[in-house]
Amino acid sequence: MSLIEVTDYDRKIWEEELRDFLPDKIFDVHTHVYRKDLFDKEETQSNRTVSWPNAVASENPIEDHQEIYRLMFPGKDVKSLMFISGNTGFDRNNAYLSDVSKKTGWPALYYSLPTQSADEVERKVREGGFLGVKSYLSRAPKYIPTNEIRIFDFFPKKQLERLNDMGAICMCHIPRNERLKDPVNIHQILEIRKEFPKLRLIVAHIGRAYTKEDLGNAFDLLTEAPDTMYDFSANCCDDAITEVIQRCGAKHVMFGTDMPILRMRTHRIEENGTYVNLVPPGLYPDPYGDPHLREVSDEEAKSITFFAYEELLSFKRTAIKLKLDRKDIEDIMYNNAVTLIESARRDMYGTKE
Ligand SMILES: [Zn+2]
Repeated sequence: MSLIEVTDYDRKIWEEELRDFLPDKIFDVHTHVYRKDLFDKEETQSNRTVSWPNAVASENPIEDHQEIYRLMFPGKDVKSLMFISGNTGFDRNNAYLSDVSKKTGWPALYYSLPTQSADEVERKVREGGFLGVKSYLSRAPKYIPTNEIRIFDFFPKKQLERLNDMGAICMCHIPRNERLKDPVNIHQILEIRKEFPKLRLIVAHIGRAYTKEDLGNAFDLLTEAPDTMYDFSANCCDDAITEVIQRCGAKHVMFGTDMPILRMRTHRIEENGTYVNLVPPGLYPDPYGDPHLREVSDEEAKSITFFAYEELLSFKRTAIKLKLDRKDIEDIMYNNAVTLIESARRDMYGTKE
């Protein structure tokens, strides 16, 4: 059975909207590659995050990951920066990913925990051949209420200090309900840039600004730290993609998908300042009743395509609006990520791939 169904509607979007717009070489800077058989035996459901992603894919082994690119981006040369996902089995999945990275030559980040010492993080990163770290707000100490979690609760400064010395990459999915415009988030991003200038910081998903309301005046303040990088993975908000390119420049924005979630078939809308993913009926059973997910009729479902295509359509609208040239598009879709990764590799290992 194929991992995903590619419909006539999907092919039409690909051929008429995306194929010629996209460069032949694509670098996807935000992907999760992991296996569920490496999780601990008893599964733990985190109540700190949205639940709908679990309904899309429960794992993403490298074979599936590469197959999805062949199905969704036919004829394109797509590579990615990878990190693991899940709530358990970190050591086993990190080891698996290190192995995958060596075999494919695709770069990867170590999934770190805030309880680790700086020495341990450095040792694990270097032993695995990783180029930096990814962690997640759900790894913050359990006593902290979800909306009070700060970046330094899952990326402690003692780790960042060491990663800065190494010139490593830090993929940062910022916490808190106010998302990008949250004053604590903004303050801590600026603090990281100031104290750890050699750390290669990527603010994931444009700081989770999935609607215009999430942007606030964040970029008035964030432009004080001009060397920050942003990925627009899982982001279909034209306003957010437009603003990050306009304010930070095309050299500071990178394409990412957030696979495997972006295999999802959905059309995202904004409603009352938040997002709702419209989905075909019955495709993603969600026992947790996530308010961000809503089923539509069979008829409406016929014109719903992949989340990844929706994100690229949003980027295309932005590119047209901002009159980006071919070079800008190639930078955002490929060059910026490769430059960042190869410079981290040189600083950390003194070699090129
Ligand atoms: Zn992600």
